Amino acid sequence: MAKPKDKIEDSLYTKVVNLCVRRGMIFPSCDIYAGTGGFFDYGPAGVEIKRRVEASWWNYFVRQREDMAGMEGCIVNPPGVWKASGHVESFNDPLVECSKCKKRFRADHLVEGALKISVDGLPLSKVQELMKQHKIVCPDDKGELSEIKSFNLMFKTHIGAVADETSEAYLRPETAQLIFTDFKTVQMASRKQLPFGIAQVGKSFRNEIAPRNFVFRCREFSQMEIEYFIHPKKLDDCPLFDGVKNVLIGMCTQAMQAKGENDKAEVISIGDAYAKKVIGTRWHAYWLGAVIEWLASVGLRKENLRLRQHTKDELSHYSSETWDVEYKYSWGWKELMGIANRGNFDLSQHSKFSGKDMSLFDEETKEKVIPFVIEPSFGLDRLIFTLLLDAYSERVEKEETRIVLQLDASVAPADVAVFPLMKKDGLAEKADSVAKELRKSFVVIYDEAGSIGKRYARVDEIGVKWAVTIDYDTLEDGTVTIRDRDTSQQERIKLDEIPVRIRKSTRSFG
Ligand code: ATP
Repeated sequence: MAKPKDKIEDSLYTKVVNLCVRRGMIFPSCDIYAGTGGFFDYGPAGVEIKRRVEASWWNYFVRQREDMAGMEGCIVNPPGVWKASGHVESFNDPLVECSKCKKRFRADHLVEGALKISVDGLPLSKVQELMKQHKIVCPDDKGELSEIKSFNLMFKTHIGAVADETSEAYLRPETAQLIFTDFKTVQMASRKQLPFGIAQVGKSFRNEIAPRNFVFRCREFSQMEIEYFIHPKKLDDCPLFDGVKNVLIGMCTQAMQAKGENDKAEVISIGDAYAKKVIGTRWHAYWLGAVIEWLASVGLRKENLRLRQHTKDELSHYSSETWDVEYKYSWGWKELMGIANRGNFDLSQHSKFSGKDMSLFDEETKEKVIPFVIEPSFGLDRLIFTLLLDAYSERVEKEETRIVLQLDASVAPADVAVFPLMKKDGLAEKADSVAKELRKSFVVIYDEAGSIGKRYARVDEIGVKWAVTIDYDTLEDGTVTIRDRDTSQQERIKLDEIPVRIRKSTRSFG
């Protein structure tokens, strides 16, 4: 069933956060000790969703491709890695402090909030000037704000018993750099030739000044990143391009932003955008299309997505071209994930700082090259939250408003719920044996507490697509009632038809 085309209301954010916390899906970490902002834990349904999104990503981008190798790097790394990448020097956010309440804020966020403009890429002096010019004060108590200071987002730690300069280390702020440091080993082990990619999923840590919007911006989060290595002269030689050239998606280009059309999304195909040189290289265009296709495959509505090109001022020091996939949140179009052309910046830097050769012999051209890189970088928690926002709907049943999370079945926390109509007369035993059998192939929730209506409601609001009820007829003729979350339609089918029905809607990735 098509998802309802409901306009995202302001209250949607609050409703989804409340649902996550009330149902123990995602909630503030260490809550019994009053916790610390920006850290979140996942409960039973939340962790299943997280595992499934990650599994879908890994299957789509790693297992199903001949040109991709997987790896997993460490979280705690020596400073050399992060000096080479530029993070120690410049992974900073602009911080201001209120003279009254001493709260700290991101200056760029305050300016953006007050003036409804984007200040990404503006020099700090310009942001400071805007703060002064528009008399921006503390949003909480109108106190005067300090001058902007640069605040480094890296979490520092020490390795071993002595905590001095020699034992300093960092928690990684992105997974990407480990792919670069391990590039030669993974290439050798996988024997991949250019072009090929290395993929990694894992935790990253950023000491965000003002974590906000639930798991959209937190201090500990998971990323799913790909570094795709290409011969520097072959960025337009992409044999996979035809597979995505017809993908249609809203775009907000540099030219549109120069005209002040920052909120627009003009629908265009990936192929046309490349032909018109809106997207600089064929490989970049390919990755934009591939990413949109996967995001749609896990259920995100394409009309809520757009590709926004970074403006020249905004581009990171390492990037010649970057596009963000943005989602239309209730607080505006914001970055869901990004796809950057990083050139050979990282490999060259690691070569310089480590003294190791990071070049590769290209069999085809017989040249030794430092490959160029296209980097699709996904935030897993931000994506999960976005999937929940996108899937949230309400249905009025018997004068009661019920929440229905219309998640794609492939990322739902369970494939099927099994309920005995009653606990007595052997129904619970039968339901338990049905659940056990289904568990061999599917993720199953078993529930025998409360009325059937309540049990349906409980699984609807965490997004389980199918619910099977075992009743007296099941004992007689081996049939069950199967109910579809999205239509609440019920149907009588045979026990052995349940797996077929579930498989029709679920792509299982293990
Ligand atoms: P933002 O501008 O929102 O701070 P960014 O441009 O710094 O993000 P990247 O460094 O490109 O983000 O990281 C890649 C992805 O990792 C982001 O698109 C986002 O999905 C995720 N991500 C980054 N920072 C956070 C965070 N603090 N909390 C949750 N997810 C994050």
